[in-house]
Amino acid sequence: MSFPTERPRRLRRTPRLRALVRETRVTPERLVYPLFVVPGDGPRREIPSLPGCFHLSAADAAREAREVESLGISGVILFGLPRAKDPLGTEGYAEDGVVQKAVRAIRSECRDLLVMTDVCLCEYTSHGHCGVVDGAEVKNDPTLELLARMAVSHARAGAHVVAPSDMMDGRVRAIRTALDASGFADTPILSYAAKYASAFYGPFREAADSAPQFGDRRGYQMDPANVREALRECEQDVAEGADVLMIKPAMPNLDVIGAVREDFDLPVAAYNVSGEYAMLKAAAAKGWLDERQAAVESLTAIKRAGADFIVSYWAKELAGWL
Ligand SMILES: [Zn+2]
Repeated sequence: MSFPTERPRRLRRTPRLRALVRETRVTPERLVYPLFVVPGDGPRREIPSLPGCFHLSAADAAREAREVESLGISGVILFGLPRAKDPLGTEGYAEDGVVQKAVRAIRSECRDLLVMTDVCLCEYTSHGHCGVVDGAEVKNDPTLELLARMAVSHARAGAHVVAPSDMMDGRVRAIRTALDASGFADTPILSYAAKYASAFYGPFREAADSAPQFGDRRGYQMDPANVREALRECEQDVAEGADVLMIKPAMPNLDVIGAVREDFDLPVAAYNVSGEYAMLKAAAAKGWLDERQAAVESLTAIKRAGADFIVSYWAKELAGWL
């Protein structure tokens, strides 16, 4: 059938018609909101490169989490800035670490908000790399045990989901084995299965104070030029016991999200990263685009590409807009 019998514009004529046939919808329950927690009980401080996002004490994180829960958002994912950093990122897996404390505070305040934790060393290491460093090299295998300890300590504090973001080979199996051995066989692993070495992480590094002190992360994060490699990464993570596959960043990798959706039956997540957020915020502040429309369009595109849920700094605002 073709024109003039077929006229696709018929179904675009009114808002009701458009809503009736809309294929993709972003809802608050498909969103996860990132929180940055800091030691002590100082006042919340806005993160300059992430307008609307704050460094939070454990008590403030719990208050923020309650608000997130009341908006119908499904979960939060926690990142920690420790009191002190060292080469092995010791505070990352300390029982009284900054994330562990915040998890306990949030769990005692919120009824059923999902508390997820980012599992990686870079926020806690003095060199800012995601693994154990030997000379100029980031060592894979010695890192696995530390990641596993971190995941177990998060689960012990009450995390519902752990999310390794380091991109070391074999970390999902190491974490699964350690969780199972520690009585956390029911704790799911949300794996950052395809995490690219991206320029769009800039604002996050300021927020998490996690910029590498030497070199870059191209030796372990993925080359943005590759999609088949992303599928191999996913395959490996599935074999090792991942429960959800995450792609990061989202907007530059919609094809990767689509390909992973196509090839795997597991739930797919996408991380709408700090740079994606900051660039729209900055353009909106200059009056160059409409933030609300641009944000809703971005997240809808990520969902349309195949993401079941999205980690986004817009989660709270979006819950109000939708
Ligand atoms: Zn890292």
